[in-house]
Amino acid sequence: MMFKPLIYSGLLALTLLSIGREEKPYFSNPTDQDIEALISQMSIEEKVGQTCQITLDAIHKTDDKGQALVPAQIDPNKLKEALDAYHVGSVLNVGWHTLSREEWKSIMTDIHAPYLKKEQNIPILYGIDAIHGVNYTIGGTLFPQEIGLAATWNPELARQMGEVTAYECRASGIPWNFSPVLDLGRQPLWSRHFETLGEDPVLGSHMGSALVEGYQGKGDKVDAFHAAACLKHFVGYSASFSGRDRTPAFIPEKYMQELYLPAFKAAVEKGALTLMINSGVVNGIPGHANYQLLTQTLKKDWGFKGFVVSDWEDFIMLHTVHRTAPTLAEAAIQAFNAGVDMSMVPSNPQYKTYCQDMIKAVKEGKVSMERLNDAVRRILYVKKQLGLFDNPLPDLSKYQLFGSQTFKNIAKQAALESITLLKNEGNLLPLNEKQRILVAGPGAASINMLNGAWTHTWQGMDSNFNTIGVLNIFQALQQQLPTSSISYSKGVELYLDNDFEASRYVGLDAYKKALKKNDIIVICVGELPSTEKPGDIRSLQLDDKQKELVRLAKAAKKKVVLVLLEARPRIISDIEPLCDAIIQAYLPGDQGGAALAELVTGKADFSGRLPYTYPRYDGVIEFYDHPGSVARAKSGQFTAYNPQWDFGFGLSYRAASINGMRFDAKDEQKGTFSIQVNVSNPHNQAITTVVPIYLSDLYASTTPENKRLIDFYKVTLKPGENKTLEFSFDATTLKRISADGKWRAEKGTFDIKCGEYKLTFELSNDLLF
Ligand code: BGC
Repeated sequence: MMFKPLIYSGLLALTLLSIGREEKPYFSNPTDQDIEALISQMSIEEKVGQTCQITLDAIHKTDDKGQALVPAQIDPNKLKEALDAYHVGSVLNVGWHTLSREEWKSIMTDIHAPYLKKEQNIPILYGIDAIHGVNYTIGGTLFPQEIGLAATWNPELARQMGEVTAYECRASGIPWNFSPVLDLGRQPLWSRHFETLGEDPVLGSHMGSALVEGYQGKGDKVDAFHAAACLKHFVGYSASFSGRDRTPAFIPEKYMQELYLPAFKAAVEKGALTLMINSGVVNGIPGHANYQLLTQTLKKDWGFKGFVVSDWEDFIMLHTVHRTAPTLAEAAIQAFNAGVDMSMVPSNPQYKTYCQDMIKAVKEGKVSMERLNDAVRRILYVKKQLGLFDNPLPDLSKYQLFGSQTFKNIAKQAALESITLLKNEGNLLPLNEKQRILVAGPGAASINMLNGAWTHTWQGMDSNFNTIGVLNIFQALQQQLPTSSISYSKGVELYLDNDFEASRYVGLDAYKKALKKNDIIVICVGELPSTEKPGDIRSLQLDDKQKELVRLAKAAKKKVVLVLLEARPRIISDIEPLCDAIIQAYLPGDQGGAALAELVTGKADFSGRLPYTYPRYDGVIEFYDHPGSVARAKSGQFTAYNPQWDFGFGLSYRAASINGMRFDAKDEQKGTFSIQVNVSNPHNQAITTVVPIYLSDLYASTTPENKRLIDFYKVTLKPGENKTLEFSFDATTLKRISADGKWRAEKGTFDIKCGEYKLTFELSNDLLF
C-alpha cells in the first residue's frame, strides 16, 4: 500500500466561504477539432471521469490485509469498475515500493488493454514521481536530488538528467512525471528543501526550465522517449512559516512576484504540459482554492495550455483540514472552480464520491459545463501531445539504454559537478595513497543516505530495494586508493524515534581506537532520508552525536574531513573550526559515492557551488540577496549578515581566473545591455567553473537588494585557455516591484558585478512592464 497517512477526518460545519467562486470563469479556446469532436460526444459522467485520478492501490490485486501482491498485478474487476462505471482518466504512483520493468510492463499492458481493445475511447494517463531519475523502477538511473543538481549550476546537465529520466519513465511505460519541483528553497527547516533548486529565482528558472526541456524534448509534441513534466507545487508551498510541511506561508505580493513565481513562469513558457498545486495555505488561502493564482495568473495571464492537477487528496483537505468548504461536495466544487482540472483522489471509495459529487454539481449548475469542458479539453490536449491516442504503450523493448552505463555516466557527472568543497585548510585534500584513512559516521556505508527520500520507497528508508552494485563512500574510497590503508567505523547510527530522527552510538570504543591508528578521519554525517510530514524536524542543528565524532577526532589530533549528506543545511558552526576540510555532498544519488571518491582523491576537481546561503545559526536565517538593513556592519552589540557560507560559494583545487569585464553594447534609454567577461585557466589541466553575474540597484522606491543574480555560465576551459563569455540582458533584468506594486525598472544607477569587476549602468528613465 502507498504510505500516505494524510487522510484527516472530522467534519466541521463552517459557514460557506466563497473563495474562488465569485470570480469570472475562464475557459480555454477550442483549437483542436479531434478533441472538440470527442468532447461533444462525451456524457457528463465521462467528462467528470477524465478529471479523476486514482492511485495504483485502488486497482491493485491485494492480499487479505489489503497489501498489494508481489509481483504487482492489476485486479481486472477493480480496473473495469474504475473505467466502465467511473470513466477514470488517470492513474498515479506505485504501491509501497519500487517495481521491476517486468512488473511495470504487466501493469501498463493491463491498464491500456481496454483502450487498445477499443472498449474505451480515451487512453489512461499514468503519472509518477520520478524526481531524481526513475526512483520507482528497479535498475534505473538515480541522479542527485534537485538541490544537488542546482549546485552544478549547469543547465545542460539538468536537461540531460531530464532526458534520461523521461526515457527511463517511458521504458517503464509511464509518460508523465511529477517533476520538477520549482518551489523556492528559502525555508531550510522544510523537509522538502532538498527537492528544490535552491533559494534563487534565476538559478531556479534556468535549471527548472532545462529539466522541463529534458523531460519533454524540444517542439510541441512529446515523442515516445520523452514525458510530460509537472511543475510543482504552485506556489509558495516551500515558504511554510513554521518550517513544517503543509503549514501556512505568508508571502507579500512583491516577493510572490519577484521570488516565488518566476521559475514557474519560465517553465510554463518552455511549454510544460502540467502543473501541480501547493497543498498548503498562502496568505490564508489554500492553494487548491486560489482562483487568483490558478486561473488568473497561470491560465489567463501566462496562457498556460496544459492542465492543473491537485496534490494528494487535496480537494478533500479543503473540507477536512483547511475548512474553507463545509462539505466534501463543496470542496470539490471550490477546487474545480478555482482552476483545478484534475483531482488526485487516490483511493476507493474517495474517487467514487468525487465523481458522484461532481456529476451532481454539474447537473445543478454549480460547476458550469463550460468549465468542465475546459478542464477536459486541457486533459485531452496533454494526452494528445503525448501521443497516447495513437499508442498509449510504445514497445518497451526498444528502450535499450535503460540503466545503461551511458546514463550512469551522466548521473555521475551530475554528482561530480554538484558536490561542493566548502573548506580545505592547508590543502588537506586531495587525499593520497600514503595516508591511513578512517571512514566513519552513519553516511559512510549507506546508499540510502546518498539518495534520500523518493528512492524505491516514498521515504527512501528501506535498503532492501537499493540498486545492486552501487558503491557507498567507504567502498568507493577503497576503490580509488587501492594501496592505502582504509578502514571503516560507524560510531553513530540514525534511527526514527516516535517519527523524529534520533541517534545512538554504535561501537564508539572501536571508533576511538581506530582514531589512534589513522591520520585522516573522513566523517560522513547527515540525515535519515525523509520527506513531507515525516521529515518535519524541530531544530536545524546537526545531531549532536554525529558532531561528537568530529570532536573526538580533533581531540585525538587527527585531520578531519567532514562530508555532509544533507537534505537541508544543518547547523555546524560549532564543529566547523574543528574540521580541516568540509564537503557538502547534498543527496548525490547512486553515483554519489563514486563521484565523491574521485573528488577527494583529486581524480576530478570540484566545481559545485552552493545553491543557497548556508546558515550559521539555528535562529538566524538570511539570504544572499538581503537588503542593506541585514548587512549593517558588525560593531559592538550589533549583528550583521554572517552566514556560514554564502550563496554561490564553493572551492576548487584549481581556480579559474576572471580577468576583466566590459560592456559590449548598452542602451541606457531602453535598458538593454550586453557584457563580455574574460575568464582563463592558468593551470595545466582542464577546469570547470561557474561565472555568475550579479546586479545591484543602488536606489529604488522599494529597498533594493544588496545584490541579485541575473545570469551565469558554467564553463570548461582547456589548460591555458582564455575565453570571452557573452551575456545579453533585456530591460526586464532591471525590473523589480516598485512601491506602487507595479513591475518597473526605475531610473538610476545599477552596478553589474562579476568577481572583482564592476560596471555601472545608468538607466535614464523609468520603464513600466
Ligand atoms: C506530494 C507530491 C507528489 C504526490 C504524488 C504528494 O504527497 O506532495 O509532490 O507528486 O504526492 O505522489
